[in-house]
Amino acid sequence: MRTWFKEFSFSTRKQREIIDVTDQILDAVRKSGIKNGLLIAQLPHATASLVLNENEGGLKQDLLNKLEDFAPARGGYQHDRIDDNAHAHLKSAFIGSSRVLPVADGRVVRGTWQSFLVIEQDGPRTRRLVVFVMGE
Ligand code: ZN
Repeated sequence: MRTWFKEFSFSTRKQREIIDVTDQILDAVRKSGIKNGLLIAQLPHATASLVLNENEGGLKQDLLNKLEDFAPARGGYQHDRIDDNAHAHLKSAFIGSSRVLPVADGRVVRGTWQSFLVIEQDGPRTRRLVVFVMGE
């Protein structure tokens, strides 16, 4: 079994936004040369999330709006006593920051409408994305 590791950096421009990182992830898997195995995509951050869903403008705004319903900023959180981003931690904790997908015949197995989307909740800042592929 072989393994392959790649880390990217990218910048977010708004406090809250959704960024499509599908091309970077698929390109990394291609470059790994691994045809069958597992992809792990991981955001090493506590205030952003990684989801698989449709990259459509209305839906992205719906996601951001629904997350605000779930954990609005300045919601009287304990963590806001030392930092002002408890809402962003809560969203990241509940959604998750990593995804595991199969790689089969050189392709990442995913649905037509499943793009890799980073949900930024504490930007703008520099974010990192780790791609790890293991297999043959
Ligand atoms: Zn914090």
